[in-house]
Amino acid sequence: MSAFLHSRFSDLEAYTPGEQPRDKQYIKLNTNESPYPPSPAVLAALTEQDVADLRLYSDPEGAALRAKLAKLYGCGPENVFLSNGSDDILNFAFMAFSEDGAVFPSLTYSFYPVFCDLHGVDYRTVDLNDDFTVPVERLKDTGRLTVLANPNAPTGVALPLKEVEAIIESNPDHVVVVDEAYVDFGGQSAAGLIHKYDNLLVVMTYSKSRSMAGARLGFALAGRGIIQDLEKIKYSTNPYNVNRLTLKLGEAAVDSDDYFRKNAAEIVETRTRVTEELRALGFTVPESKANFVFIKRDGLDGGDLYRKLKDRGILIRHFSDPRIADWNRVTIGAPEEMTAFLAQVNTILKEEGLL
Ligand SMILES: *Cc1c(COP(=O)(O)O)cnc(C)c1O
Repeated sequence: MSAFLHSRFSDLEAYTPGEQPRDKQYIKLNTNESPYPPSPAVLAALTEQDVADLRLYSDPEGAALRAKLAKLYGCGPENVFLSNGSDDILNFAFMAFSEDGAVFPSLTYSFYPVFCDLHGVDYRTVDLNDDFTVPVERLKDTGRLTVLANPNAPTGVALPLKEVEAIIESNPDHVVVVDEAYVDFGGQSAAGLIHKYDNLLVVMTYSKSRSMAGARLGFALAGRGIIQDLEKIKYSTNPYNVNRLTLKLGEAAVDSDDYFRKNAAEIVETRTRVTEELRALGFTVPESKANFVFIKRDGLDGGDLYRKLKDRGILIRHFSDPRIADWNRVTIGAPEEMTAFLAQVNTILKEEGLL
């Protein structure tokens, strides 16, 4: 830290992204990226780009992409907001809608408390039920910005739409953010409710089901008022928050929606197999509706499993939070990657005398 940093940030603890190692090739099951490349249409759009155009700014309105997303989700372009990854939207939402504080589950995306600390937002958390489901009643009538990842991370557990709607309906005077980063892997989207509730903000990303984490593209769907508020913050921060290339690739991705749905269906199929096999090996695996599973095995420490697999060239995620020290989050990769993962887990269990 320099002597120049505003004292407001001296105690700020930044978010820790998952490792992106460069020392060797790993089977990478640690940051919920897709094992599949973007669609051929996205690759074609990139090849067709005229690099000379990079001298020009991107369209600050992202009009072409917004129109396509609006059509895909059955709303108007005025209901769509674009950003440089969806973390950007979450940042804006915590900045914009938290005057009365914020509330979210105690076990969820670990970026939410960081945004609160960044913006000096008073927040409280509600503990999940023992089966990792969200305690719906405790998120009703909260009197604050209410944030819900659905399906939740790092558990993968999803809340039925009816319950999400009950939370939205009970908080008419505060924004309810539904973070749907993983919704394409089996969750029920709240996107259809944006015309019914003016306090609903649905946040989505191209990073997971659309295989474009490196392109940094996120979007939100909401009523016109909330979108205008987000625009105000964006135009006060970085009007060109989505670059030219990414806008083009984003359009091509919407055009090939079927391709991404097919990949998501394959990941769901692989997830079913991995869940069954891990349970057969004695793991506890809550039912996941995301592109990862959250796993625990009696007798096996989460940190140990992470290190042993890393030594064997497989990266999974272990979190420093002591409440989930026994657990690991494992991204669902390609079928052959998961076969390799399961084989190594089997070997480790045998070596530990647990099988
Ligand atoms: C991955 C993720 C995001 C955002 O990712 P971006 O790459 O910034 O779009 C948001 N919320 C949750 C719960 C995530 O897991």
